[in-house]
Amino acid sequence: MSWQTVIGLEIHVQLSTNSKLFSGGSTGFGAEPNTHVDLIDMGLPGVLPVANREAFYKAIRFGLATNAEINQTSSFDRKNYFYPDLPKGYQITQMAMPIVGKGSIKIDVDGSEKVINITRAHLEEDAGKSIHDLFDGETGVDLNRAGTPLLEIVSEPEISNAKEAVAYFKAVRQLVTFLDICDGNMAQGSMRCDVNVSIKKEADEELGTRAEIKNINSFKFIERAINFEIERQIRIIESGKSVVQETRLYDSVKNETRSMRSKEEANDYRYFPCPDLLPVVISDDEFNDIKNNLPELPDEKEKRYILEANLEEAEAKIISSSKTMANMFEEACSKTNDSKLVANWLVGDVSALLNSDNIDIEESKLSSNNFAILIERISDKTISGKIAKSILEEVWESGDDVDNIIKDKGLVQIQDESVLEEIAQRIINNNLSQVEAYKGGKDKLFGFFVGQVMKETQGKANPKSVNDILKNLLNS
Ligand code: ADP
Ligand code: MG
Repeated sequence: MSWQTVIGLEIHVQLSTNSKLFSGGSTGFGAEPNTHVDLIDMGLPGVLPVANREAFYKAIRFGLATNAEINQTSSFDRKNYFYPDLPKGYQITQMAMPIVGKGSIKIDVDGSEKVINITRAHLEEDAGKSIHDLFDGETGVDLNRAGTPLLEIVSEPEISNAKEAVAYFKAVRQLVTFLDICDGNMAQGSMRCDVNVSIKKEADEELGTRAEIKNINSFKFIERAINFEIERQIRIIESGKSVVQETRLYDSVKNETRSMRSKEEANDYRYFPCPDLLPVVISDDEFNDIKNNLPELPDEKEKRYILEANLEEAEAKIISSSKTMANMFEEACSKTNDSKLVANWLVGDVSALLNSDNIDIEESKLSSNNFAILIERISDKTISGKIAKSILEEVWESGDDVDNIIKDKGLVQIQDESVLEEIAQRIINNNLSQVEAYKGGKDKLFGFFVGQVMKETQGKANPKSVNDILKNLLNS
């Protein structure tokens, strides 16, 4: 029997505001525990929340970029539950009137396009963190993250397999980073998702019972958790039992999902409108201002790179696919005015290094500025392409400054043609039998002479000059 998989994602995107959703507390990552905590984040009674408008502006950007309905008036509700990392005893979220309504996003799976509809995207505050591995037998609570603004993006149950789910997550990540509303840093938890999975027979109209796998923050784990869950549900149904609606967690060490709580034990959150916060109204002026200042998105960048920078479509696609790479491209182009050269290095050597290390450009040690300097040094002929390649590899490992490497290792290209001529002549004099053979028709030997000159100069000679000089000397 063939089963059809149905998946819906709830993605939590941490909005990159400086301060929290309802307090002036800092949202900076990695501070000492409990140092970025305002009175309200600690849940002290009688402290009133004040909504951070910047979070609304960022949410609206997302709505505009996904062609969504935007509610210029939206409101907050309380979702009540008890947990040590939620000292107020409730989370402030948007239930009845979310800031962003129905929208959609395009995904690309192995070259074919699909549209995934988005049900809604609402603002809510994050909870703190419970830390289980710091004190033996005890749990620590760090409230630094409490109150950090999240945009929760809820998809329709229209995703059909693990690959599509990952493509969807990647598309959302690409969009929020281009929109400059989230840093997209998954290792730091800036994007996390709950994955809802069910299966049904193809002919069934109704969806099957779903399991919700909580809080996954890597592409790999999304894919593995879904595939494990599909197998588990098929096994259950084929053995004549039914899937229970429940919340599960994914254990990446054992590569399995495990039950956390079933629907019967699920919390009744007793949502009600938050009495401390009035509905927030975004004026037409504010709205239009956001709309008119939307950052350039990947599709637009791709078109511009083809038209203005003369890139091939494939090159433009690769470069515009990530915000960091697009920034690198633009910075290096502004320094050298040689967009082809810049694109060749990004699509060629840099992409090859990314592939072999299997990392994203954000994770590499190559900074935008250092890359631009490397290109500039090639372009102004300070270094040869060959030397540039070895410098890139060194920067890749160490993150060191390109100019320092050139200086420390004396890698400056030999510009003086008389120096090259002298070396070439010496090599010819020392290899008379090869010269004879070359002149007798063994054309391939030309490469031998070029190689010798390059060796002698430790790669610092300009290959074109070497070619010209050798041709001149050997053919005379
Ligand atoms: P809740 O808020 O209780 O988790 P929602 O109805 O808001 O429930 O759905 C949350 C997510 O679950 C959405 O992304 C939705 O697409 C998805 N979903 C709902 N029903 C199913 C189903 N039967 N199978 C897979 N995903 C589902
Ligand atoms: Mg849910």
